[in-house]
Amino acid sequence: MARKRIKELIKLINQANYDYYALDNPTISDQEYDRYMQELINLEEKYPEFIINESPTKRVGGTVVEQFSKVIHKNPMLSLGNVFNESEIIAFDERVKKELANPSYVCELKIDGLAVSLIYEKGELVKGVTRGDGIVGEDVTHNVVTVKTIPLKLKEPVDIEVRGEIYMGKEVFDKLNQERELEKLPPLANPRNAAAGSIRQLDSKIAAKRRLDCFVYHIPNAGVYNINSHYETIKYMKKLGFNVNPNIKKANNINEVLDFVKHWDSNRETLPYEIDGIVIKVDDINEQLKLGYTARYPKWATAYKFKAMEVITKIKDIIFTVGRTGQVTPNAVLEPVRVAGSVVSKATLHNEDYVKERDIKINDQVVVRKAGDVIPEVVNPVKERRDGTEVDFEMISNCPICHSKLHRKANMSAYYCLNEDCDAKKQEALIHYVSRDAMNIEGFGERIIEDFYNLGYLKSVSDFYELDKYKDELMKLEGFGEKSINNLLNNIKSSKNNSLEKLLFALGIRYVGSKTAKILASHFKEIDSLINTNYDELIAIKEIGEAISNSVVTYFSNVENLQLIERLKKHHLNMKYLGQEQLENEMFNNKTFVLTGGLSNITRGEAKELIERYGGTVSNSVSKKTDVVIVGENPGSKYEKAKELNIITWNEQQFSEIIKNIN
Ligand code: NAD
Repeated sequence: MARKRIKELIKLINQANYDYYALDNPTISDQEYDRYMQELINLEEKYPEFIINESPTKRVGGTVVEQFSKVIHKNPMLSLGNVFNESEIIAFDERVKKELANPSYVCELKIDGLAVSLIYEKGELVKGVTRGDGIVGEDVTHNVVTVKTIPLKLKEPVDIEVRGEIYMGKEVFDKLNQERELEKLPPLANPRNAAAGSIRQLDSKIAAKRRLDCFVYHIPNAGVYNINSHYETIKYMKKLGFNVNPNIKKANNINEVLDFVKHWDSNRETLPYEIDGIVIKVDDINEQLKLGYTARYPKWATAYKFKAMEVITKIKDIIFTVGRTGQVTPNAVLEPVRVAGSVVSKATLHNEDYVKERDIKINDQVVVRKAGDVIPEVVNPVKERRDGTEVDFEMISNCPICHSKLHRKANMSAYYCLNEDCDAKKQEALIHYVSRDAMNIEGFGERIIEDFYNLGYLKSVSDFYELDKYKDELMKLEGFGEKSINNLLNNIKSSKNNSLEKLLFALGIRYVGSKTAKILASHFKEIDSLINTNYDELIAIKEIGEAISNSVVTYFSNVENLQLIERLKKHHLNMKYLGQEQLENEMFNNKTFVLTGGLSNITRGEAKELIERYGGTVSNSVSKKTDVVIVGENPGSKYEKAKELNIITWNEQQFSEIIKNIN
């Protein structure tokens, strides 16, 4: 039994390795891969007599393809051991402590890209090599030189090999896929595959266009350069002119490691690039040497892997929903599956073209992805797992709610229900109106809106402001009491004071997202000027294009929309932009902030938002121009620099007090 399973696992993992590393086209999720690998490691430990040469546990994953010239790594480029939870991190610490009395660690972000070795002679870049199978890599110098954050010349004329991760930022990745969609090319699965695919191209024009980036994190044989610790290695690389990741922490014990892990577990979405975990390394280089290596990874380091953002599950059915603009979206009903900490049973399929291009069918096993708080989406089907029960997707031709005929505009992928009285559209418009970036009326979940709509209390957004007339009736509804209705009514009342941009976004004018709403509000200052504007005036605004200009003019020439605005005015909604007035009496005006260390009560993203809300800007590095450095727990070198330059520092508590005082 064990022997058969070992063989099966070896075959499966080797195939997955080939698809992932050689073709940059994974066929199983990372989570499944890691699970199979762990199962194999456990079995081989128990039955060492069944270990065979092709076992992936004996080798680092990659393969070397034929087209590139091969380069033998002077020092093998290994992978990292994995840990998946707190107790495994503690077990890693315990293993280390068997050899070392009092280890200190360095924690870094695990950038989700591909490893590269950069070889410099007398300070000049001469070669860039992929990891390949760890022993032999591929020469990809022609593509590596297109990466702007890889210096071609160092600040010192040293002979040195430096290793790091080439990656593609989230924004670049999204743009690339948008362009591919326009060109009718299939989208790339994720930034990692996109980066790997770009670097492993024969034509360097492709890599150059892809705007890749690089963070370096390792010098083999750092001792040669009189470096004693990993932390010093990072500093030295920075001094040479490399890009090193600023989110790094020296940890004196495993509890400090756990703090760093926890912080990034919940804040990783704020980064402009993807990370798939945290790398924990023993800091002292002599201690690293003492611990040594296995065939696949160093014993002095490990990678904590975040919970999967991508998993595989089955599509049980495809259903259709109608959005506030009338857009009809196919959604996959899934066999429930846990993705990144929550159970998902539905995922968007975007539109008919999306489903057809990817050939997604009912009963398919599919990869489902969740990124941040974005709704889960089906990425692609796992065709290898088809068993003949799959059913082709068919787009509907009538609205699933009001049954009127759907329309598809030329050159657009989406179908729309054009019936202005469609219940689904109206409900979605109400849900949008109360949402956070719109009027931000707390307490109104989708269910409540649906119920109030069906009971006739809410039909148009102006009805929110008349709900108080029905207070007694509402209080009698199941699940509601005086307190909850009072809360709802209070929240509605206070939303009347919102700045104009919130209302503009809430109205659901086509193409007017929250950012555009802000641009319009700050330009026109009050709604009447916007109502009375024209196309020419709109298009003259730098950030506003044709589609938005047309849409705004059309919206405000519609009598019903103007009547709605009049009704809202009668309910005393604020129709002015308040942003500027707020900024004027702000103490953060023209001030530059830098954040360092872990914040415990708010995320970095939230701190940034607060600073910007009150007129300040946030920068990544400390310089003479910095006004304030906010210092969290275990701050990094930015804190040292702030002290050196005599810059004002606030701890988290001071920062929150100041914010409280402004409010
Ligand atoms: P890994 O991704 O688990 O970790 C090692 C790599 O981390 C290094 O080679 C380096 O490239 C990278 N890294 C990023 N930041 C780093 C830092 N600060 N310090 C050091 N290294 C850093 O190992 P791997 O061998 O590259 O890949 C194995 C993993 O890839 C698997 O665990 C699995 O998740 C995935 N995989 C998936 C499939 C699939 O079919 N889905 C197939 C093969 C591998």
